[in-house]
Amino acid sequence: MSPVNATPRQTIVTLDLEGVLVPEIWIEFSRRTGIAELAAKVSSHKHIKLHLNSTIAQTSGAPGRFSVDIAQESGATVTEEVGALIQATGFTPYDMMQLPELGAGKSPNVVDQLGLEKLVKAANGAAVKRPSDGGEVKSVVFIQCAGQRDEAMESGGRHLPYCSGHCCATSIKQAMYFKDANPDIDTMVMYTDLRVPGTGEDFYRSAQRKGVTFTKGAVSGVESAGDDVHEAASAEVSVGVRPRIVLTAVAPKPLVQGRYVRYTVQVRPRHPGAPVWLARRIADGWEPFKRFRLNGESRRTVRVAAAKPGQLVVRAEMAADADHLAWHSRLWRVKVFSKRNPYGVPSRYPHLILVDLSQYKLYYHERGNVVRVFKCVLGRPGLPTPRGRFRIYAKDPRMSGPYGPHRMRYLGLFAIHGTNEPWLLDRFPRNYSHGCTRLSNADIAWLYKRVPVGTPVWNVP
Ligand code: SF4
Repeated sequence: MSPVNATPRQTIVTLDLEGVLVPEIWIEFSRRTGIAELAAKVSSHKHIKLHLNSTIAQTSGAPGRFSVDIAQESGATVTEEVGALIQATGFTPYDMMQLPELGAGKSPNVVDQLGLEKLVKAANGAAVKRPSDGGEVKSVVFIQCAGQRDEAMESGGRHLPYCSGHCCATSIKQAMYFKDANPDIDTMVMYTDLRVPGTGEDFYRSAQRKGVTFTKGAVSGVESAGDDVHEAASAEVSVGVRPRIVLTAVAPKPLVQGRYVRYTVQVRPRHPGAPVWLARRIADGWEPFKRFRLNGESRRTVRVAAAKPGQLVVRAEMAADADHLAWHSRLWRVKVFSKRNPYGVPSRYPHLILVDLSQYKLYYHERGNVVRVFKCVLGRPGLPTPRGRFRIYAKDPRMSGPYGPHRMRYLGLFAIHGTNEPWLLDRFPRNYSHGCTRLSNADIAWLYKRVPVGTPVWNVP
């Protein structure tokens, strides 16, 4: 746990929960279906045309001039010309009571973004007051991603696995409420990622210029050591911060048993020399298999051989230290194929031809095992060999010239055949054909004998 430099008794913590931008009027709707009142209210507005019991059948046009076909209950269709379309689907706020570890429900000074909007509205242009006692706010901390982007979701996590997309920008806006009211209010946004694309970046910079502090770290707990109402002077807020551990990996494609994966681990804030380790998922948890120390740049790349076929799920882990809690990276998952079946071809196919277009190689399989691998020439730029799954539909036993001795067609005139330019097989990259797959004449003679009509042909990128 690492205390944040906040004057405890004067702190409001806000949680960025999904959906908190919902206007209050919408919340009211969900509670008591006030559709009729709203319809009456807006229908008298001179700039609003209201279509009841209607659906949008079609839109066309471009910004500034859209055409919208509105299908009415009577069966008629009305067309409106409009300059802009706004899609307001509404959403459900995440229940902050699901986050007691962040102080939700335990302290009135912990509010979500909707709660903070209410405080701002109640302040009516003046500075926001502390909910517990109406006192002056001296510091405020925004905790991002609360209840969202729960990486443990797939293994039984409690919260939402996705990013709701708006709350970074909302927190920036709300942080500026405090700075605009009083530049001396200590205002901090704690985030794991700030997702403010486009002009949101300028918005973020403007908050920095106003003195909002942005600091990276995942908050694991908020504690109030005192009674917020009666002993506010002794209350304190401490925030446990996890390091940000990023794991990236580079592996050959497909990853075949025995080949190497290069894992790179990076930790922020910097922890030069800190011990970290890679752990793989096993039946009942995580098993460390590679330990090392971060370099002076707080990163490290290590090479590890893929041990056995199957799913390989790895994460980087780090122990707690004086500044941070123990934490781990996101998962890195890949399938490891056996040497005899590097592309995972199912054994139900008695014969199967797989052409790896990136390697210029043809893999001939029988019952899910590679029997032979051939070099091949593929389509030239502008006439590429098609990607996809096909079947041999015709075999031509007597060919000559550029086709070599045999041809096997699988898509129109796209075929696998021999060649009268065998030297091209020794060049790289080998893009010379009109889209066909050319083998040496000896190789097509061998393959032609074994492959019946109907054999699948998979051209993979
Ligand atoms: S990254 Fe930003 S927008 Fe996404 S969930 Fe977290 S706080 Fe919300």
